[in-house]
This record gives sequence, C-alpha cells and structure tokens, in this order.
Amino acid sequence: MIKNDITLYDSLSKQRKVFLPISKDIVKIYSCGPTLYRRAHIGNLRGYVFADTLNRLFRETGFRVKHVINLTDVGHLFGDGDVGEDKIEKEARDTNQDIELLITNLIKIFNSDLEHLNIPLKRYDFTRATSYIKEQISLIKRLEKKGFAYKISDGVYFDVQKFKSYGGLAGVSKSIQQEGKRVEINKEKRGSYDFALWKFSKDTENRLQEWSSPWGVGFPGWHTECCAMASSVLGESIDLHTGGIDLAPTHHNNEIAQQESDTGKVFVNTWMHTEFVGLNGTKLSKSDGNIINIDNLIKEGIDPVALRYLFLTVHYKTPINYTDESIKAANMSLKELKSYCFYKGNLFFIKKDKQIVENIKKAVSDDISTPKAIALLWDFLKDDSIKRSTKTKTILEIDKIFGLGLKKKKIKIPNDVILLFKERQKARENQDWEKSDDLREKIKEKDFNVVDTSSGTDLFPIIN
Ligand code: AMP
Ligand code: ZN
Repeated sequence: MIKNDITLYDSLSKQRKVFLPISKDIVKIYSCGPTLYRRAHIGNLRGYVFADTLNRLFRETGFRVKHVINLTDVGHLFGDGDVGEDKIEKEARDTNQDIELLITNLIKIFNSDLEHLNIPLKRYDFTRATSYIKEQISLIKRLEKKGFAYKISDGVYFDVQKFKSYGGLAGVSKSIQQEGKRVEINKEKRGSYDFALWKFSKDTENRLQEWSSPWGVGFPGWHTECCAMASSVLGESIDLHTGGIDLAPTHHNNEIAQQESDTGKVFVNTWMHTEFVGLNGTKLSKSDGNIINIDNLIKEGIDPVALRYLFLTVHYKTPINYTDESIKAANMSLKELKSYCFYKGNLFFIKKDKQIVENIKKAVSDDISTPKAIALLWDFLKDDSIKRSTKTKTILEIDKIFGLGLKKKKIKIPNDVILLFKERQKARENQDWEKSDDLREKIKEKDFNVVDTSSGTDLFPIIN
C-alpha cells in the first residue's frame, strides 16, 4: 500500500483530496469530543468509531498518528447563540452534584464506552478544556492585539467581519450575514455571527467553575477551547479535524476564524464530518427518553462491538437509522465473523491472502468506504475455494483496521466429533453421499460444522 493512496472528502473545499501529511510520516488529528454533562448515547459514539477507523487506517498504512480527543468540561452552552446556560453547570446544579465529581465520573464512563467499542485509549491524547485555561486566555489576548476581539458587557467577542473568509463550512456565506438573517439576541454585538471568546460570570449566578482573566472573571467560549487544545498539543496547522455534522456551521466555522486570524496559516487541511444516527426513524433525544447507550446494549445481550460493526456497514456521510432489527443483525454478523477465528493449530506458518487485505485497505483508503470493505470481506469468507486457515489468518489481519476485537480462538475438538469427522471423510472417499450427509447432521448436533471446499473439508464450532 502506497501512503499517498489515501483520498478523503474535505467538507471545507467540498472535494476529495489525496492525503498528504503536513509533517512527514506523522498524521495530526483533532476530533471534537464529548461534552461532559451526560453519558454519550449511540449517536455520539458514531463519531469516535469513525475517528478510530481513520486512526487505524493511518497506522496500518505506516504513518505515526498523534490524535487528540478533547473533553469539554466547561463553556459549552445550550444553543449556538452564546446566551444559553452552560450545559455542565446546569447538570451539576439540577442533579445537585459536585461538578468535579460529575465530570470525572463521566470521563470514566466515556473511557469505558470507548473500550467497549475497541477504541484503544492509549492511542489518543484526551485533553480537558479546563486544563488549558492559560492557553485559551493567551489566544484571546493575541486575537485582541491583532484587532479581532472586542469587549462588551457580557464578554469578549470575536469580530467576524474582520475575518474575510468566514463561513466556508456548511455554506454560511457572507451575504447571509449581511442580510442579518440570524436572530439577534445580544444587541451589543457588532455582528450577528460574532461569537464569545470569553464570557463573564453574572453577578446573579454563583458559577461552579470560573477563572480570572485580563477582561474579568468568567469562563472560555467552547470554540476557543478547541483551538487552544488543538494548537497546544498538535501545532498551528493540523492534517485532519473530525466532528459531527451539526458542528460544522457554528463550532467549526468559529474555530477556523479564530485559529487562522491568530496564525495567518491554514488551520486544518481536511475537515471530516460524520452524519447523524436516528432511532427508529426519529431523533435520538434525551428529553423524550429516546436514548440508547452502551449499557442498554449489554443489558439486551448485544455485544457493544456489534454497534461498531453496524457503523462500519454505513458510510460516515450517510445517516443511520438504528433499529432493534439492525443491531440484532449486526450482532449475528459479528458472531459469524468470530466463528472464522477458531483454529486448532498454529497460525504462524499460514499465509494471509494479501490481495484481499490490499483490496480492503484500498476501499477504506477511498474516503473510508467501510461498507464496501465489509462487503469484500464477506465475499472472501463465503468463497469455498479458500481454505479456512487462510480465512482465519486474513480476517485477523483485516481486523487491525475494522477494530472488531477479533482474536484467534483455540478449539478443542472432542474425540467423538473427530471420530465422526473421520468417518465422514471415509464416506466421501467412497462416494457414499447419503452417509456423509447423515454424519454431517450428527456432527452438527454436537455443535460443529463441516464445510466441504475445493481445498479440503473444514471443521469448526457453531457459535450461538
Ligand atoms: P456532545 O457530547 O453533546 O458535545 O456531542 C458529541 C458529538 O456527538 C458531537 O460531535 C455531535 O455532533 C455528535 N452527535 C450528537 N447527536 C448525534 C446523533 N444523533 N448522531 C450522531 N452524532 C451525534
Ligand atoms: Zn470542538
């Protein structure tokens, strides 16, 4: 696989681009992470599975990867208009919890959710926004010095009119701004698209998290947090930035405006946005109790990795409608894939099918076309001319990209099954097909399957 064979769709230029890293051999990725006010639902988790698939692809193609997933623990307000309540403060107050405890518990749950989805925590830098307050203040100071920031009574704002190419993502154009189509709530703002870099604590509220700053006591804006974390850990310009599609019009347009005004350089080479997950044709909505999380899956007897499989079967730019049937089907498919991982001997001397590994990598390198890659895998597994040992070796190799946690399982074949198998082989040699079929059924009753292929007969356990 040649490294520059990866092409990815960039939501900003709205074009597919051949991937070329900014620094040789290292890929720098920033993925917008969870807001720590409630547990992630299955929709939220789609973005992290996507980020992990990207990460795996780059690793398997020979790149080193530096990948940040941030943890938003302050300043993400309800709504996009800088006037809503801080989600985390509100949750802590409403549930009467210590805010640090709320945040740290949610981080633990988030980590465990990721582990359930085979997302290796060690491969990521998880950055908490509150650990980068100093960097956020420095960024705002620089923006102020360069004339991009101004102070009004409730905070410090970014002056969007000063950033000429504002709104490239998701089609927010200058003309819309000038028409003033956005509902204006804060009359002191110079322009309707201006956004808060720093907000002041109100006299009337007793904020649980606040910091002093050159402009007054308060807290950072959500968009400012992501820029400060991305540039602190990854540098001024990064290769890839991912997030849910809902983040493009406001959060990500604002990130670009801040970072590029600060550095004068392109912030992100490729923007990638994942589509939403719906539940039974409706929105996943916490307020309607229309929510599924990893624990719900486990309680239903579903392997959480089946969710990862389900996500892989749909292209990241296509919405998913999650249903009971779709997750159950995914769970069955995962079990079937696991059944290919049983092997009685040592796989060391078995050769993988290089061509199929290459073809699958190619599909994933083609703008993360995982549905195509999964289809290729099934075609390969269903091909009776291929030996089972080759399938086992190959599927384990491919799983480095799919991340379905497939592992070689040793099988102990009971003696009575071996005897039945040998007897059946003899019947086949004698072309006694009736007896051979009978014996196949007897073997099945003992939870083993026999499959005759052009390269011999395979014997493996049935997984229920
Ligand atoms: P939050 O933790 O609320 O900040 O959301 C984390 C991520 O989940 C964001 O990137 C959202 O874009 C994304 N997201 C929210 N709802 C859904 C959904 N139903 N399907 C897919 N992604 C979602
Ligand atoms: Zn972000």
